[in-house]
Amino acid sequence: MLFVAALFVSCLVTLGMMVFAWQRRDVRTAPAIAVLMGGLSWWTFCYALLILHIRHPDVVPTLFNDPLFWFRLMFVGVSVLPAALIIFVLQYTGYRQRIGLRLIGLVAVIPTLCMIANFTEGFGHQWFMGDFEPGGESVFKGGPAFWLHTLYSYIVMFIAYFLLIRFAIQNPQYRRQALLFLAGNMVVLILNVVTIMQWMPESWGKLDLSPFGFVVASMIMALNIRREGFLDLMPVARSLVFERMADGVLVTDTRGRLLDQNPAAQALFTRAGVDMSRGRLLQEALPGMFQGGRPAEELTLQPPGDEARRPWQLNVRRTELRNRRSQVKGYVYGFRDVTELKEVEDSLRQQLADNEALRRALKEESIRDPLTGLYNRRWLDEVLEQEIPRALREQQPLSFCVMDLDHFKQVNDNWGHDVGDRILVALARLLTEGSRKHDVAARFGGEEFVLVLPGLDATRGREVVERLLKAFSELDFGAGGPDNLTFSAGLAVVPDHASDRENLFKMADRALYRAKEAGRNRVVVQDIA
Ligand code: GH3
Ligand code: MG
Ligand code: MG
Repeated sequence: MLFVAALFVSCLVTLGMMVFAWQRRDVRTAPAIAVLMGGLSWWTFCYALLILHIRHPDVVPTLFNDPLFWFRLMFVGVSVLPAALIIFVLQYTGYRQRIGLRLIGLVAVIPTLCMIANFTEGFGHQWFMGDFEPGGESVFKGGPAFWLHTLYSYIVMFIAYFLLIRFAIQNPQYRRQALLFLAGNMVVLILNVVTIMQWMPESWGKLDLSPFGFVVASMIMALNIRREGFLDLMPVARSLVFERMADGVLVTDTRGRLLDQNPAAQALFTRAGVDMSRGRLLQEALPGMFQGGRPAEELTLQPPGDEARRPWQLNVRRTELRNRRSQVKGYVYGFRDVTELKEVEDSLRQQLADNEALRRALKEESIRDPLTGLYNRRWLDEVLEQEIPRALREQQPLSFCVMDLDHFKQVNDNWGHDVGDRILVALARLLTEGSRKHDVAARFGGEEFVLVLPGLDATRGREVVERLLKAFSELDFGAGGPDNLTFSAGLAVVPDHASDRENLFKMADRALYRAKEAGRNRVVVQDIA
């Protein structure tokens, strides 16, 4: 009776695990675990009822008048286990991303045939049950189909364990959870072998010990889920998204050893000639990626064999991979190829710069006088529109001077127009070099020039212009050129003479006229009205 109670406990524990796994069925490997646990639970349940039926046929009757009913039913649970195990392992180790009908069909052929034999009378019964008769003294030895099924189960199990062990060796990050899962299986396996081989004391009777293994295996799996993130971590690294993603994705452990990569990463690094084999340190494979221990956000890779080619630009993003207790278990690196994007960006930026340069050039052209490089009249108007109100606002004087070369017509006539031009250029340079940074010199037209001197009153403005006049008269144009050139200048001041552009011009012009009248080669300040 104790044994039956233990069977029910085992049945409930495995049922609980099945429900738990099924609730997590969005995790790719969970449905297979649910089927596995369901199979175990079913096995134990039928086994318990079978024993109860044998001991108390009145309490637990058999159905369909079949004395072997519970016995047959029990095998259904047994037969799904190898298929569920191998499917789980294939998914878990990443051998198969999705489990298609073909694979399910393949692993289900032998169990299905055996189950048909299991549920048929006559020949099928002979095949599966051998000469076993219920209730009699005969011991269940099984027919050829039973042993075929047993052989099949063991082959499938050993393939699964082989894959699992290899996976554990190659993936240190998942080693503990893979080995824990294996340990649970081993407990069941050992108890199963002990039962089949009848390596038990005679007094124990013909009991199947495997169900006790299920309880242990369930407990180990619960631990695995809680501690190691089993049914939890793996799908992060190996989901369909990961496989299909256009971005390259690498998974490393905390030390940077490469655990996994998706096909996009494989293609990318193969083309770049970077060895990204499993177990290699990422710091070694991509030394340029780590600056002071932290991964760079951008990575440049030179495609091999073609130095002239533009290097690839990659955007790098690192995410921590945590288990359920939020311990960092590894890192996921995403690589996005932004070479083309960068190229487009660069050419756009170049275009913008070109446009800006063109715009500046056009603007300069429109405000500069081509011969002397001084500002032209248009710009002068703009300057005055700003400077006059500013002078008034800040209660600072502003000197404004109009200059006209003396007898320039004669200079042109005597020395030629080219020499005349050179003189204009020389004066222009004198005006720019001889004035302060925020003074503005402009060519007003022909051989007339203008100076705007913010902050200078009449006296100081006059000093500046007289100094310029002196310097100009001392210019030497060599043997084939004129000397003693002079100009006349008229000076007006904001706010003394005017407080707008038109009047300022008018006043300065009047002073210039007076300078010419008075004999040229001088600076005249406009009278205050
Ligand atoms: P005044 O002292 O009265 O100013 O005598 P002026 O000969 O300078 O007389 P006015 O100002 O009327 O003459 C302007 C002369 O300046 C006419 C033209 O030959 C000369 N001129 C105007 N623009 C240019 C120029 O761009 N290059 C050259 N070489 N000469 C110019
Ligand atoms: Mg003139
Ligand atoms: Mg003149």
